[in-house]
Amino acid sequence: MWFANKTPDISSSQKTALVLNALTDELSAFPARIDSTIATQPSITLQPGDDPTPPNGVSQNNLNGITVVVAASAGFSTAPPMEDFHPSNIHYDVDVSLSSFTVSTVFEFENPYYATHADGKTESMVVKAKVAKFIAVPDSNKELQLISTKFQDWDEVKHQWVDITTSIAYAAQAKAVVDAVIQTQSDQTAGMATVQDESFDVTLGPVGMKGRILLTFSCGVPFVYDAMGLAVDGSDIGKGRLIPVSLFLPWASLTDQKGGCGVSFDLKAPASSITLSPSDCGDAYRHLHGQKLLQDSTMIAVASLKQEPTHATARHAWSCLPISPTFVLIWLLVPNDNDFGFELLSIEEPVPKETELKVTVLQPSTKDNELLMQSLPGAGYNPAQLTRIIIDAPRKAFPRIKPQLVLNIGLSDASGSTGCSSGSTTVRAQFNEMTKRRFLKRIFSIPVLLEAGILQPHDVWTDVAIVFDGSARDKRVISFRVSDFKPSNLIQDATTGNVKVAPSAMFSNDKVAKEIVEFVAWSGNVQPGGWTDFVKPVDAATSMIHELVSAARQLTPNLETSSVKSFIDFDTDGGHNGTSGDVTTAIKSLVETAAVRNGIVTGFGAWVNQDIASKVAALLGPNPALLGLHVPKFGQEGMDRIFATGFTAWVDALRFESFDLSVTAGAFSKNTDAIQVLFAKRDEKSRIEFGAVDVSNVEYTGSVINGVSSGDSLILYATSRLDVKTLAERIEVKINGVKQNSSSQVMKPEVLEGPSLAFEWLAVTGGKDSAVVSNSSVAVPNLITRIEDNISFAYNIPTLTGSTAYLGRATNAGNRAPVDKAHQPPDATLTNNLRPVAAVRDSTESFSFGSARSHEPRKKTKRFVGMAPSAPTLTGGRGGRGGMATKSFRSASYGFGAQPAPPPPPPVASFGAPPALSASFGAPPAFSFSSQQQQMQPQSQQLYRAQQTPSRSKMVRPPAYQEVDNNNVPTSHWSRILNRSSNLKATNQESIQQATEELPADVLANLQYTIQKLLGTVTIKYVCDTCNREIDDGQTRFHCLDCFDFDECQRCNGGHVSKMAFHRVVSMNGASTSFTIQKDPLLEKLLGINNTEKPATPAPFSTLDVTAWSHTRIIKRLLVAMLEWWIEIIVWLHHASTLPDVLDNAFLAEVRSALRSPDEKQIFGVGMKIVDTLIRSTSK
Ligand SMILES: [Zn+2]
Ligand SMILES: [Zn+2]
Repeated sequence: MWFANKTPDISSSQKTALVLNALTDELSAFPARIDSTIATQPSITLQPGDDPTPPNGVSQNNLNGITVVVAASAGFSTAPPMEDFHPSNIHYDVDVSLSSFTVSTVFEFENPYYATHADGKTESMVVKAKVAKFIAVPDSNKELQLISTKFQDWDEVKHQWVDITTSIAYAAQAKAVVDAVIQTQSDQTAGMATVQDESFDVTLGPVGMKGRILLTFSCGVPFVYDAMGLAVDGSDIGKGRLIPVSLFLPWASLTDQKGGCGVSFDLKAPASSITLSPSDCGDAYRHLHGQKLLQDSTMIAVASLKQEPTHATARHAWSCLPISPTFVLIWLLVPNDNDFGFELLSIEEPVPKETELKVTVLQPSTKDNELLMQSLPGAGYNPAQLTRIIIDAPRKAFPRIKPQLVLNIGLSDASGSTGCSSGSTTVRAQFNEMTKRRFLKRIFSIPVLLEAGILQPHDVWTDVAIVFDGSARDKRVISFRVSDFKPSNLIQDATTGNVKVAPSAMFSNDKVAKEIVEFVAWSGNVQPGGWTDFVKPVDAATSMIHELVSAARQLTPNLETSSVKSFIDFDTDGGHNGTSGDVTTAIKSLVETAAVRNGIVTGFGAWVNQDIASKVAALLGPNPALLGLHVPKFGQEGMDRIFATGFTAWVDALRFESFDLSVTAGAFSKNTDAIQVLFAKRDEKSRIEFGAVDVSNVEYTGSVINGVSSGDSLILYATSRLDVKTLAERIEVKINGVKQNSSSQVMKPEVLEGPSLAFEWLAVTGGKDSAVVSNSSVAVPNLITRIEDNISFAYNIPTLTGSTAYLGRATNAGNRAPVDKAHQPPDATLTNNLRPVAAVRDSTESFSFGSARSHEPRKKTKRFVGMAPSAPTLTGGRGGRGGMATKSFRSASYGFGAQPAPPPPPPVASFGAPPALSASFGAPPAFSFSSQQQQMQPQSQQLYRAQQTPSRSKMVRPPAYQEVDNNNVPTSHWSRILNRSSNLKATNQESIQQATEELPADVLANLQYTIQKLLGTVTIKYVCDTCNREIDDGQTRFHCLDCFDFDECQRCNGGHVSKMAFHRVVSMNGASTSFTIQKDPLLEKLLGINNTEKPATPAPFSTLDVTAWSHTRIIKRLLVAMLEWWIEIIVWLHHASTLPDVLDNAFLAEVRSALRSPDEKQIFGVGMKIVDTLIRSTSK
């Protein structure tokens, strides 16, 4: 026996989950759920609309997902090209913060044919790769972009990596250079990368033993949501935000030779960020893991980040791919800056401070300053600097004469769950108390606001309170002229906060005071009711606005209908019984109708839907949703914070103004403006646009921006003929035509630097940022193209249109043979259309089935190791037989050869046919990965229809956001990609079934047979792959070294070579081939081998047999998988009862020793032992 203890009972429903401790690099089991820790859960039954998501939980649809889908092909100097070529190592560098998300990938490719020829030259390799654009950020307004490319070439002489840095060239030129390097004896290695619509295309070569492609992507801004405070006193409310990042590891079944690929990651997060604790928030992890996309996958949750001076980090490496779907989950909790969303305001402070207009000219670093210098059109050098200018619009009360309506809209959740207890009281009672105190605080500040000029005596004050559960259950309105409010007629009790009419006013006719007392009494007495629907109260409020404005005009007849300033208080303890799309649409409509200028979302309890709360908060204003698991008491820090934030936001709403800005810096010379504003980037809520040019001065013009709101922060993108310092002095901003005080103009260092700054400019000029408004009379296409090209070349970043490319070259030390034109690999194909379904659903005619893959009709298939239906393995090169489903030898002496072969696949008319002629679209799946993918397309389309058709009929408004339903992934969502990736296995239900069709017992039997074959302990009957007849013992067998498992009989010999250029068919005559296993540095590191020894001499060229090479990789992978993925192997074996959780150390040592051994017989021996034991354990 090679394991020590018996397994404890693992139920098959238990999901595989691990925690990676980043400090110790140790993996351990995910902590079990302890029921006593869930006392915080409300003690009443879940109501429709309450969000059962655990505190801080998230929907799978809001994961920031990283999946890397790469397809590659390789060409060699003498060996035939390989069409389906796989990396030997994949590494990810993930750098994530609240404002940016960058992923770098390293793909390492090893040359299986590497060897020295008789003429002293080495066999060299060219790799062509396509990387699909699939790092996905939910709701992002930015596309995935390639921001840097580097190549590395392995120096076979010095045994080290040599960097090939790249610079930008026009794409056509880059291609010509790379072709020349690869195809002639240049003693150079070159690489290029271009940006295509759906992929990043890369070519590298010629490399010797191995080469690397390093790509860095900017993924824009990650999906972030407001963390729920867990402290009882609410002191952590509004203090942090969460970023869920999921790295989906590529995987391959146990018998897939490409599973030998190593995989690793490195995480960089903002300093002092931590991950959501798997013990405190275990339910959030379990909830996520239980969702459809992830439930059949192994979860590896990263915890205990390493705190370094500038970053928090984590890393881990595995020396082979997992055997089933696996994701690494990095659930970051990033602290907010102290002043994020808040102005620090004492609750006692009567009125928050005003802010003035501020103009900040950003000063780039010296280097960026040089790189951003442009020469504008004209003879000679006409320097102008690309400049970003931040304009913070003032937040102050402008003198006004016109009266306005101050409209406070309170939407308060009184669903049944608010009846659950919170300390000595209920959540609802706390909400009542909050409503009351909030209202009175505002009412009693009227005198101060009048004094500050924020309110005018003839303004109208209206409060509308709507109490809702599943409906807008109750509402109350109070409305009066500000001058009619007499604070002296009310008395407030200092301890309870309650009000009553002052005795002196008891018999006065102060109707307002009496109404206030009634309003307060009513709002303090709201009782919890039914379930929760956010849309109902919002729609109810929207429908009342017109009437409320009319009523206000009765009080102050000269009130204009447009002079409304609304504020929303949204208090909830639950989720919404509908889609977040419904809610956002309803809120947007209310914001527009009521001229909402700000608002606050407050949520308490475990059932608050954080995603919806965050989205609603973002629509109302700049403040985060204030979310707490517990309701803080009055006087506790959390409640003070809620009050201070709410009051400040409310005063900001009262001060709200919308105005026109004009920006100029005078004339540079006659008729030449010193600055030209090309673009403006706005806040999400802002609705600015460029207006008519300011021609008030005859010498120069100004750019006018309409619709700027108080407190807005705009970023202007401009060309400036002045240096930054002079510009900061001369820039002139007018508000509504009035020149502003120049003391608010400052110069500050640019916040972005290097590639990030350049990428920002490229995204803006390329129209890839939806927050940007173009000043079309200045930002004309010719000028923009000119600027784009300049930035692209200056910064080494390709344009977003693909007109420029990365190109790098370096001399190499090796004596490498060129790879001539005939040996070039075909372009790699991402086998199918990898755009999200929504994007392709109307364009079936554009499906591309990739390049010609197969020229020979497919033959009947036979199950064998490496032929899993969804597991492409190494195949013949261009023109080789398509797919990997080649048959091999029939085993005469071994039983399972008698198994019925799967039905033959249909003729492959569609393969390589032009898309329009693909009549067999949707035909039954052949045992080929690519055809299986084609299969999935119609399924996805059906899914799309199934989801859309019913919802369309019910839909009142178009959904702005497809809903979060755990079991209903939005059709346009990136997660569909997982189903159509070539390096990742599909994870949808259908394909899981296909994958599991392969019974472990069969796989193990196949493995056993393979090892017996490699050890020569089994008699093999070969079948001619051309005529399909058995090759008798007396006949000579001809074996193709370059195909996986191809043999010909004497009669057919010559046929294969005549069709397949460069394939080497050898006469076997019973002689067996041998070869050496190449060393794997990552594995060696894992095994603790000192890597200074000289790499093993590669096997003589003539002996590489793709069939044997592939089989050996599979056996070696089996051993490594035992070390790395035992936990998944147990699950795959359906938790065979005799298997232990942890493997015995002596056994592990034996596996390591075999992997270290230069004698592959030892590997086969240990492999045999593993397989035999697993077969025994599954047959019991
Ligand atoms: Zn034959
Ligand atoms: Zn061949």
